[in-house]
Amino acid sequence: MTHLAQPTASHFINGEYVEDTTGTPIPVIYAATGETIATVYAATPAIVEKALETAKAAQTAWAKMTGTERGRILRRAADILRERNHDLSVLETYDTGKPLQETLVADATSGADALEYFGGLAASLTGEHIPLGEDWVYTVREPLGVCVGIGAWNYPTQIACWKGAPALACGNAMVFKPSETTPLCALKVAEILHEAGLPAGLYNVIQGMGEVGGALVTDPRVDKVSLTGSVPTGKKVYAAAASEMKHVTMELGGKSPMIVFEDADIENAIGGAINGNFYSSGQVCSNGTRVFVHKDIKEEFLARLAERVSGAILGDPQDEATNFGPMVSERQMDIVLGYIEQGKEEGARLICGGNRVDMPGYFVAPTVFADVTDDMVIAREEIFGPVMAVLDFEDEAEVIARANDTEFGLSAGVFTRDLSRGHRVIGALEAGSCFINSYNDAPVEAPFGGVKASGVGRENSKEAINHYSQVKSVYVRMGDVEAAF
Ligand code: NDP
Repeated sequence: MTHLAQPTASHFINGEYVEDTTGTPIPVIYAATGETIATVYAATPAIVEKALETAKAAQTAWAKMTGTERGRILRRAADILRERNHDLSVLETYDTGKPLQETLVADATSGADALEYFGGLAASLTGEHIPLGEDWVYTVREPLGVCVGIGAWNYPTQIACWKGAPALACGNAMVFKPSETTPLCALKVAEILHEAGLPAGLYNVIQGMGEVGGALVTDPRVDKVSLTGSVPTGKKVYAAAASEMKHVTMELGGKSPMIVFEDADIENAIGGAINGNFYSSGQVCSNGTRVFVHKDIKEEFLARLAERVSGAILGDPQDEATNFGPMVSERQMDIVLGYIEQGKEEGARLICGGNRVDMPGYFVAPTVFADVTDDMVIAREEIFGPVMAVLDFEDEAEVIARANDTEFGLSAGVFTRDLSRGHRVIGALEAGSCFINSYNDAPVEAPFGGVKASGVGRENSKEAINHYSQVKSVYVRMGDVEAAF
């Protein structure tokens, strides 16, 4: 990786790279080969302290700048991300194992979109004037203070930007802890933000496992916690933040339904099912992993799906021809292979895949199970890998009830040519981020997030502003104060 402008130390604090080799070493393993490509060191208590202290100190002056000034810096950072998209994509591929074909269009570019969007909104964050006869109330949109971001390993650049951009636009400071599995990319985001003119201390990145995240979440200087991760971690972090009455955003996992009616355009539905199960080797929280297919078209759907899945090109993720990469880690590969074995034991019909691929790295073949029933573990638990479960259904009311019968509620999709059915069914599904005749689009303009156990709050769009700011209301009396005595 030496040709690459890679991060030069483990942490980025107060506008510069900081190293502290007394922390626990964390090897960064390239998932396509199993080789260690870098080592970072977990934050010691001194590093955690330094990050929080500088964030707290820098935030006040940042909040006093105009939105236009703050926004200009974020938009400049967006431009730099785009200019360096190729190198950042190569780094993202080393960090995660995702193919360059994907990272070139989905990671730094999506991070840049967030910086540009929230940079553009920053100047328009205003309050209201509420007339009350002679008197009036005005409201002021204020930042929260110091925000902590904790990331998952599947989209390290994107998550660092999706949390950082709205936080900074609103006048907050951020301390971000990436997943220990993918620690590199967020450091480059911090470096670029400061290169774009962000005053030192406003976006700090520190490394570590859960205990570093835990220390950040409970610190009294922290006003908000935004986590992207699994539901069990989300419950722990939410509880810890709630005990101190901190604001939270929780972007958690899912087991989302994708419903294909008999009148659907089958090629589009299969395209949606492929995007919603095999992009990033299935390591996407909003994936539509329960694909309900109407029984009249099921066999046709499965035959054509198997044909199209055979077009997956597994190989060196840095080769732009590769369109399917490895699992992020050996551990994740083992988890996914365990679920595949369970699917076989439970009696699901294997249509394709179902095995580790005999090549270096942590590759699991794109896998499709048919005849999956609602009670099977592969239909109930989030696998976070390339495993699609196809379930049959016969009528609309039945499929809606079955689709909603889950603790999760992140996403849902419907494929049909009947538009009123499309809207009716989406209206009845318990999910936050939904699609009609598409799957897994996540433009920055659209709110993103889940209901039920899949999360609290929304990222992206104007909605995110509400989660990174608070409203002060001020009553202004023009006349005398009347009092009882
Ligand atoms: P985890 O829940 O294991 O970890 C998420 C982050 O939380 C990591 O940085 C982790 O650190 C940290 N963490 C773990 N324990 C604690 C704790 N007690 N206090 C504070 N921080 C803690 O998720 P994964 O990284 O394995 O990511 C996969 C999950 O993320 C999937 O379930 C997926 O659905 C979800 N996800 C949700 C998305 C969404 O937007 N809704 C998007 C992407 C993924 P470390 O890993 O270093 O231990």
